[in-house]
Amino acid sequence: MSPMAPNTDGTVDILPPISTELPKELSLVGKTPTIAVIGGGMSGLRAAEVLLQKGYRVVVYEARDRLGGRISTSNHLGEAVDLGPNWIHGTDNNPVLSLAESSGSKLHHFSEQCPTYGFDGKLLDQAEADELSELMWKVIERAVEYSKHCHPAIPVEKSFYDYCVEKAEELFGTGAAEDEKRKKELWLSLAEMWGTFIGSPVERQSLKYFFLEEPLEGANIFVASTYETMIDTMSKPSLDAGIVRLNTPIDEIITPAPGDRNCVMLRSSQKPEENCEVDAVIVTIPLGCLKREMINFQPKLPKRMLEGIDSLSYGTLEKARFSHLKAGYSKLKIC
Ligand SMILES: Cc1cc2nc3c(=O)[nH]c(=O)nc-3n(C[C@H](O)[C@H](O)[C@H](O)COP(=O)(O)OP(=O)(O)OC[C@H]3O[C@@H](n4cnc5c(N)ncnc54)[C@H](O)[C@@H]3O)c2cc1C
Repeated sequence: MSPMAPNTDGTVDILPPISTELPKELSLVGKTPTIAVIGGGMSGLRAAEVLLQKGYRVVVYEARDRLGGRISTSNHLGEAVDLGPNWIHGTDNNPVLSLAESSGSKLHHFSEQCPTYGFDGKLLDQAEADELSELMWKVIERAVEYSKHCHPAIPVEKSFYDYCVEKAEELFGTGAAEDEKRKKELWLSLAEMWGTFIGSPVERQSLKYFFLEEPLEGANIFVASTYETMIDTMSKPSLDAGIVRLNTPIDEIITPAPGDRNCVMLRSSQKPEENCEVDAVIVTIPLGCLKREMINFQPKLPKRMLEGIDSLSYGTLEKARFSHLKAGYSKLKIC
């Protein structure tokens, strides 16, 4: 964030167009600009790495005692488990895939080694599980296309799950035959998996706006070796450069009015010794922290940005993992 002219409502626009060139304000600094990155998750670490490559002075401020943010691997159960991300969704042109490959992560495709259990707790026949899963993905694609082209006509209360129920009848019939009913119910329970992708129950996902969830192009890859090696790889440039300040939550960012001193002030009430002045700031803290106004921006963020922060929200995703170590490999299922 570099000092800019305030808007009429007293807020300041802080979103310069993304460019790899030095912003004009920084080129006037007359020395190598110092850029603060707030947040040591994937976004902050990548920003720091690029800035270091370009020769800037960089400092990464991280509130917690570790890097990685939402990427977090636990060994508490005696095996490495990702508490945060463990998928790479949409591999086409996805830099996370390159990162996973360059960091030597073990990857496998969504459908590989993905045992599915029936209502009786018994493992489903893999061919049947694959068939149902393939049908599920086809219906998801059709729902995206349908909502994209017909959304004005779709009632707002109609959910993706309602659509699945209709499709289930087309696919498996409406008869009372036991096998038909069983397949239909199994398939519908697979449909609920889409809830875990999005983080809200399928019954609450609006069909009208389903196209907004259009899956990214390419495969869905499971990072079997966990995201740990990826975050280690991303952390290395910042750690090697000695620019990481852990346990340092920034709680105030003060941008002076134009004409005043050409720098941004950072304050950390938990670590006042880290209070400093920098030439620009990149804020990568999560939406939840912005919603809770955990950083006091002076002047306030622009109205349109505050409205965006207010109107966006997250769903909740609960994860459980169990594994059967068999014949030297680990089978994983996320539910
Ligand atoms: C359970 C779960 C499962 C997920 N699964 C997937 C998946 O399979 N695939 C996928 O692609 N994505 C997944 N995601 C999303 C993915 O984790 C995030 O998109 C990504 O990690 C965000 O990185 P980030 O750097 O933008 O934010 P974060 O990782 O949240 O990093 C922000 C950092 O800012 C720090 N911070 C906050 N406030 C301050 C402050 N005031 N001062 C200093 N530091 C501060 C935080 O401590 C944190 O380290 C999942 C997320 C969760 C929670």
